[in-house]
Amino acid sequence: MTVVVFSDLDDTLFHTKRKCLDLSEHKDATALSSGEVGAYSSPQQQALISLFNDSIIIPVTGRRTDSLNRVLMDFSSYKIASHGAIVINHQNKLDPTWRLILGKEEPQWRNRMDQLKQQLELDVERLDIEVRVRIVNDQGYACYVCVKGDPLYLKLLINKTDKESTEGFTVHANDRNLAFLPPYASKRRAVDFLKCLFKNENNRHITFFGFGDSLSDAGFMSICDFQIIPSNSQIAEVLR
Ligand SMILES: [Mg+2]
Repeated sequence: MTVVVFSDLDDTLFHTKRKCLDLSEHKDATALSSGEVGAYSSPQQQALISLFNDSIIIPVTGRRTDSLNRVLMDFSSYKIASHGAIVINHQNKLDPTWRLILGKEEPQWRNRMDQLKQQLELDVERLDIEVRVRIVNDQGYACYVCVKGDPLYLKLLINKTDKESTEGFTVHANDRNLAFLPPYASKRRAVDFLKCLFKNENNRHITFFGFGDSLSDAGFMSICDFQIIPSNSQIAEVLR
C-alpha cells in the first residue's frame, strides 16, 4: 500500500523557538543559518510523524529552498517550497517540467511584484507602521511578495492596499506573515502536479494525506484523501 503525505511544516510538524514555552521532550527540528536550533517538534508532533514512518512525506512549505534544506528531517522524495512556487525532485533539483511552467509564467509577474512591493512600501510609510516588505526569490525566480510584522499592522496594511495592485494575487495572512502570491505560487497547484506524477509513476493505488494548519493549506489538503489539522491552528479556529 503506498501512502503519500503532503505536509506543511511550520506550526504543523514543528514550532519556531518563539512559540515553544516548555521544551521538555521536544526534539530539534530545524537549524538556523547560524547553526542554532530554529524550531522544535513537540511530543505530539513527533508521534504524528512516527505514524507515517513508512510513508512518503513531501514537505509543502512557504519556506525557501535553503531554509527547507535546514529542516532536520529526511525528505527523500519530492519537495515543495516557497508556497508552491518551487517543486524539487528526487535529485534535489528544480523539477524540469516545473521549470518550464515557471519559465513561462514568472516573467509575466516579476514586474507586477516589483510594483506591488513599491506600493506596499508607500502604504507602510503612510500608515507609519513597522513591517518588512520583500520579494522572496528562490532558485532564481521571484516567488511572492512577503510582509512580516505585527498581525495588527498587517491587517491595517491589507485594508489600505488598493485592489488594482493586488489583482490576480492570492492573499495569505497568518499570524506575523502576509504573502501576496502569483498564480504559480500555489500549494494546491504544486500538490496537484505531484499527485499526477505519482499516479503516472505507480500502477498501485495511492492514498494521499494532507497535513496543515493555515487556511492557505486548506486548498491542497482538500485534494487529498484525508486531512490532519493541529487543534491550535487557523483552520481549527474556523471549524470551531
Ligand atoms: Mg504552517
